[in-house]
Amino acid sequence: MLTGEDVVPVPAAGEAPFVTRFAPSPTGLLHLGHAYSALFAHETAKACGGRFLLRIEDIDHTRCRPEFEKATLDDLRWLGLRWEAPAWRQSPRTDVYQDALGKLKAMGVVYPCFCTRAAIRHEIAESARAPHGPSGEPVYPGTCRGLDPVEGRTRIARGMPHGWRLDVEAALAHTGALAWYDVRAGWQDCRAAEFGDVVLARKDIPTSYHLAVTVDDAAQGVTLVTRGEDLFHATHIHRLLQALLGLPTPTYYHHNLIATADGQRLAKRNRSVSLKYFRERGETPASIWRQLGLGVPATAEG
Ligand code: GLU
Repeated sequence: MLTGEDVVPVPAAGEAPFVTRFAPSPTGLLHLGHAYSALFAHETAKACGGRFLLRIEDIDHTRCRPEFEKATLDDLRWLGLRWEAPAWRQSPRTDVYQDALGKLKAMGVVYPCFCTRAAIRHEIAESARAPHGPSGEPVYPGTCRGLDPVEGRTRIARGMPHGWRLDVEAALAHTGALAWYDVRAGWQDCRAAEFGDVVLARKDIPTSYHLAVTVDDAAQGVTLVTRGEDLFHATHIHRLLQALLGLPTPTYYHHNLIATADGQRLAKRNRSVSLKYFRERGETPASIWRQLGLGVPATAEG
């Protein structure tokens, strides 16, 4: 389980202590990978006398459940983590995300998208050279980008279900070249264009992960975003949104992902790696901390 390669970063000389956060989505039980991420953020803040915040990312009402939120808080407390109260929740903040989307609309860098998933799949299948994103998945073919704005407004007025997508080329034309800094990987040129026109508000949810996380990291004053390297690429989009919305850019640390002994990624659906399972087996928080290769905090019981 020990990743060995992650080193708790320290602020540069003259830099303020870090404000870090852990931002779980209550869509399942936390597993060892989440514990690692949470403990890493916690330890990083503690090591420099900084602040550790908790944010419950519960915007997806189709997947988030109150019992998972409760289990998340119970697990984190059991692990000995202490965060600055109150923990943030995203679901009451939809107006704030709508305001941010409104700014982007006024700038002309988003457009309404009326496509169904099936229509997008069909269009990609029909297209000989569909563009692909950094993980090899096809990106949105841009179907609604060219829609006449008057037609778009008419459809909205008629109540047609729609989301909102970032017009990434228009956005980059607005901001020019951008960069962001990852403590492990160094300076990164912002390559948001590779993702195509990502969704910023879904048909059924008035925001998306990308928009909400960008707005909230700024609103909470997070100065060092620590999270798994599976989200490394998403940071290109977040950097672009920061520039468009005039928000500060935190430093990033994308840490290693915990894997099972046979190299499999941990998944929420795999009960045998959940913290609940370890607790039921009588493991102590201290043994979890040790398995993860992190020091045991004084607040951890057992
Ligand atoms: N809520 C996201 C997740 O649980 C993590 C967001 C982040 O750390 O930026 O995967």
